[in-house]
Amino acid sequence: LDFEDLYIKRGLLMGIFEAGFEKPSPIQEETIPVALTGRDILARAKNGTGKTAAFVIPALERVNAKSPKTQALILVPTRELALQTSQVCKTLGKHLGVNVMVTTGGTGLKDDIIRLNEAVHILVGTPGRILDLAGKGVADFTECPTFIMDEADKLLSPEFTPIIEQLLAYFPKDRQIMLFSATFPLVVKSFMDKHLNQPYEINL
Ligand code: AMP
Repeated sequence: LDFEDLYIKRGLLMGIFEAGFEKPSPIQEETIPVALTGRDILARAKNGTGKTAAFVIPALERVNAKSPKTQALILVPTRELALQTSQVCKTLGKHLGVNVMVTTGGTGLKDDIIRLNEAVHILVGTPGRILDLAGKGVADFTECPTFIMDEADKLLSPEFTPIIEQLLAYFPKDRQIMLFSATFPLVVKSFMDKHLNQPYEINL
């Protein structure tokens, strides 16, 4: 299978090839076509498999850059991972006119509020700060179709889980959840049973 067979837009294909990707990795081959249908996904995949692009490519494909709305949230457990993930969004999406913003705790909240005055199509960050922004009505997820969790086994800590559940309440009922996790502990299974709708499961 080639990237051309995935029916993604030309500008996105260009970004993918310019990043030096020649063919989809196995996780990308399995995830992208299902993700594009809007179905919930639970993927068990380790780092180094190309999992980031497996959720970034469908997120970028589904963004309408002409709309000012936030159209995907990517939740990650650490600032480091947030920065890396947003860089992947920017690199692959560079021909799409998509605005990507990173926000994590420990940086100026005021700056975030100013940046969110402009269209932010994809928001990447850690749960606490994003909940703050949603609670203040600065980040608006009422029409956001896509909720992505990377390293869900780390995200679903006792500290983060209630925050993530509060955040989900800001999303539309029919939102798509994509959950990526290296391991599959009980917390991930419980979250899946509670919040995912007939998820397509991928094990690699
Ligand atoms: P990840 O598993 O998302 O951390 O990605 C691991 C590494 O693989 C990163 O350096 C990516 O840039 C690279 N990568 C992801 N997808 C592909 C692909 N389809 N072809 C070549 N390299 C890739």
